[in-house]
Amino acid sequence: MQSLILSRKDFREYDQIISAYTVEQGKIQVLARGVKKITSKHGCHLEPVSFVDLTIVPGKELSHLIKVQPIIFFQGIQADMRKRVIAGYLVSLIDRVLEDGQGDAGLFSFFREFFLFLNSAPAVHPFLVDAFLMRFFDRLGFRPLLGACMHCGKDMHTMIQEHWKTPRDGIGFFSIREGGMVCPLCASKDEGMVMGLVPCDEKNVNTMLCMINGSWEMLASWPLDDSERSKIQKIAHQFVEYHAERTIPDFSVVERVYEI
Ligand SMILES: [Zn+2]
Repeated sequence: MQSLILSRKDFREYDQIISAYTVEQGKIQVLARGVKKITSKHGCHLEPVSFVDLTIVPGKELSHLIKVQPIIFFQGIQADMRKRVIAGYLVSLIDRVLEDGQGDAGLFSFFREFFLFLNSAPAVHPFLVDAFLMRFFDRLGFRPLLGACMHCGKDMHTMIQEHWKTPRDGIGFFSIREGGMVCPLCASKDEGMVMGLVPCDEKNVNTMLCMINGSWEMLASWPLDDSERSKIQKIAHQFVEYHAERTIPDFSVVERVYEI
């Protein structure tokens, strides 16, 4: 069964529990017996971010691993510290967000394509993580609505024209909790500040559209200054955390590796 290894946790003296995302069964937990023994032939293939073929059999509580064969070895990720940290962060996030089950061949292909891109990309920016988050959640059914105000339906073109007449901080707002754009008039009615609004200009909206629809190559060279980058990061991470209904792994692990 084709699988992406997400994490491995110690269990008893020589065993580990492997978490993996599989094409057929979605996320699974598998008991790998004796995998910590130095003579184990499976150990090296079960590192997180490995794409492998797992053979498993049902057990009493957990399925048992019988055999593991590598499918893709990401040499380009393993040889680059930044790529390695980004890939490690993303598999721990996938592991945190997904419940067991949820088999989805489209989601599996999405993971595989991203890691293949990461493996071969000449350079990677942490913005790719933001884009991955938005796109991952789009695939889970949380597509951000960016073309018009979610409340009154006013389209983006009209919001831009109104902004020319009365310039203010952005053409509208992204609502973290509602997952889409809100025009300034509808935003002004948010008295209890329940929408979680972040002001956005036209470029921010185009950036988010590209995060959902653009190719990874396009995103890797997307023009972004520091202030837009920190705004987009805030939107992507808060949006995902809110809809995942749990905290996501601490992103500072990725940021630190870019400070070196
Ligand atoms: Zn509106």
